[in-house]
Amino acid sequence: MKYSQLFGKTQRQEPRDETSVNAKLLIRAGFISKEVSGVYNFLPLGLRVLNKISQIVREEMDAAGGQELLLSALQDKDNWQKTGRWGTFDALFKVKSRYDFEYALGPTHEEVLVPLVSQFVSSYRDLPLSLYQIQVKFRDEPRAKAGLLRGREFLMKDLYSFHCDEKDLMRYYEEMKKVYMKVFKRVGLEAVETEAAGGTFSKFSHEYQVVCESGEDEIIYCPGGDYSQNVEIAVAKEGQQCRLGHGPLKRVKTIEVGNIFPLKDKFSKVFNLNYKDKSGKDHLVMMGCYGIGISRTMGAIVEVCHDDHGIVWPSSVSPFDVHLVHIEDPGTESWAKETYNKLTKAGIEVLWDDREDVSAGEKFADADLIGIPVRIVVSKKVGEGKVEVKKRNEKKTEIVSVSALNKIVLI
Ligand code: ATP
Ligand code: MG
Repeated sequence: MKYSQLFGKTQRQEPRDETSVNAKLLIRAGFISKEVSGVYNFLPLGLRVLNKISQIVREEMDAAGGQELLLSALQDKDNWQKTGRWGTFDALFKVKSRYDFEYALGPTHEEVLVPLVSQFVSSYRDLPLSLYQIQVKFRDEPRAKAGLLRGREFLMKDLYSFHCDEKDLMRYYEEMKKVYMKVFKRVGLEAVETEAAGGTFSKFSHEYQVVCESGEDEIIYCPGGDYSQNVEIAVAKEGQQCRLGHGPLKRVKTIEVGNIFPLKDKFSKVFNLNYKDKSGKDHLVMMGCYGIGISRTMGAIVEVCHDDHGIVWPSSVSPFDVHLVHIEDPGTESWAKETYNKLTKAGIEVLWDDREDVSAGEKFADADLIGIPVRIVVSKKVGEGKVEVKKRNEKKTEIVSVSALNKIVLI
């Protein structure tokens, strides 16, 4: 992709109406643009990141037996009244039709999926079942000042699992805990699995928390990795010794990037989601739900992975693999083109800064701001047949021959 043709450009000025690091950097680097408070447009660079995160999540959900579907965003008010949440879900957007209807604008999808599943599941043979979607959610959040971390419109993966009994639900729940740790590791985040309250229907839930000063949550955890609780419920105290001898527990600010709940029969009861066992006896289906904030994860990555010059994307979610900077000098155009073609042919995604009349300094500053993990420079100074390679998170540069490039970049 040629940078000169890319829709969305970097800007030097910080946006005046943003306070969060993720929104400031993502707007300045040309990934997102603010529509209204808590609502963002994703420009081509931003969408590439969102799609990479979604794809990692999708691969892991598929591997855990999930089947992807896409549920409606406009939802039946009657079903929300049946669960009682029409009146109690504070952040629910209610949409009035010009005809006589009213809808819920989906903040979560139990009210759609459980009645839907009850149309198809009737026997123990239909279970277990695991369904998920990656979809835009809407919540009328009171505070929406943290950029992608708390949107009024945001992208979420929500998976729902259906089981014959609690034992099978908990088996899957434990499996999903491992899947979640894998997902966050793959997107470049170190998540802390944290015990939290479960709300009205379960004693506990688990949150996936990323340690970060700008986070809204707080956890008390053992850096040795055996204990973590959200402070809202925590029984342990900061400084108390870990029982396994890892030292004192720490209290830190965090961002919740995922949350899993054993729902049990809370929603099956309301919508009569039953199945017949082998002897023909009816039972309620047991459920779990498992969310990941895809756009929040993107924001969390920026909060954790940046420096004074810009974003530092983990390679798995970077919009491109390589940022090719061509420093204009007569006779060097063909060198840049050759490098671009060679990398592209090898399956490497390249953003090629081909702009004319832009100084080398500006191009380097933009490369740092955008944050692609590898920068490659083609210039007269470096010479024909050679390029300068620099990793975004390292200071050192290396001169390599174009013929050896694939090896270096693919590592
Ligand atoms: P929070 O406690 O942060 O308000 P939640 O517990 O209400 O979130 P869930 O309903 O469990 O969130 O949603 C699953 C995931 O969706 C969360 O773990 C989070 O990553 C993401 N998420 C929730 N609300 C938002 C939001 N307003 N903006 C962006 N992501 C969100
Ligand atoms: Mg939560």
